[in-house]
Amino acid sequence: MKKRPIEFTITSKLNGTLARTGIIKTPHGIIETPAFIVGGTKATVKTLNPDQVKDLGGQAVLVNSYHLMLRPGTELIKSAGGVHNFMNFNGPIFSDSGGFQVFSLGMAYKKGIDATSHSKKGDSSQAVNSKTQLTRVTDDGVFFRSHLDGSKLFMKPEDSMEVQHLIGADIHMCFDELTSPLAKRDYIKQAMDRTHAWADRCLIKHEELNEVHLGLSEPLQALYGVVQGAREEDYRKESAKYLGERNFDGYGIGGVFEPEEISNTVRWVNEILPENKPRHLLGMGAQPADLFLGAEYGIDTFDCVAPTRQARNAALFTLNGRINIKNSCFEKDFGPIDKDCDCYTCKNFTRAYIRHLFMADEILGLSLATIHNERFVVRTVDNIRESIKDGSFFEYKKDFLERYYGIDRAKDFLA
Ligand SMILES: [Zn+2]
Repeated sequence: MKKRPIEFTITSKLNGTLARTGIIKTPHGIIETPAFIVGGTKATVKTLNPDQVKDLGGQAVLVNSYHLMLRPGTELIKSAGGVHNFMNFNGPIFSDSGGFQVFSLGMAYKKGIDATSHSKKGDSSQAVNSKTQLTRVTDDGVFFRSHLDGSKLFMKPEDSMEVQHLIGADIHMCFDELTSPLAKRDYIKQAMDRTHAWADRCLIKHEELNEVHLGLSEPLQALYGVVQGAREEDYRKESAKYLGERNFDGYGIGGVFEPEEISNTVRWVNEILPENKPRHLLGMGAQPADLFLGAEYGIDTFDCVAPTRQARNAALFTLNGRINIKNSCFEKDFGPIDKDCDCYTCKNFTRAYIRHLFMADEILGLSLATIHNERFVVRTVDNIRESIKDGSFFEYKKDFLERYYGIDRAKDFLA
């Protein structure tokens, strides 16, 4: 296929690092990178409408295939003209493969992950509980249960590609096997090899489905290979090499659970992946430091549901650290959440009012808090991008992290 679904151009690089700025051109507009991709799990950014997402600077959103497949169903989204029409967001949209939820929610349906199932040599099962076998991996795909009603389902790489093409996002992810943070090295290797075999199958199916779009004059979709290998340096490098040699439009880095893992994992991988393809850190943690470390080691896009989730739990970001707006010290505080914030909420409402909304369980509070937290993260990544362009990245990183975490704790991220 000659025409590529997306184009990526590197616009600047930071000397002596892997950090770069760039532009991803998609059928639904451009993304200036590094960029924070707003979490749109069930084809909605929780508590916000699409205009609010755009107003706070959100360039793109990421929807979850697993959730949409179960409800409302991907055929329905296709009938609505695809996910852009369905949710009325006309900017770029990413979809994940469903793999993360199949492994995390499928397992969580009853018991949660049982680490002992990984210790048996040659055991290809990640079953939660040997009696109920809620999630079972085979070389062909994964048996799992719906977290909604417990019904038995099966997903293979080709199914994930079909699901994502029906949803119709601009950038798709390969179906991969996520291992538990407690998985043993031999199991991590098995899962990685399976992830690679699945990536090859995804690519074949994806190109076949793109040919159909081409025949119907519909926009083409891009596919990212997803690098796995958990915390093992040799496996991460092997995974980056294997996938990097294949014709993906970009790359996702999956299974990075802890902030301490980000610098190393991302560096191992990005030193090997082809430089001219965009890289996405899948479902990163909730720490602002992660954004700096990711960008420094060559991440172009990030996604994370933490800013919205924390906002709904009254945990709000400020440049001086995170606050809980329900705290009694804010009862008569008539200043904004963050005096240096340019968001709609900070321009129009006080801490005392937002605290009141939370204490009274008023839904406006959730929405105002979400606007603020999302804007905080989006703006931080926008500032990171500008600082890479003008060479002030390390200065900005130091100032930001020392103010946010305090000088002592910031040292962990500045070493
Ligand atoms: Zn604000």
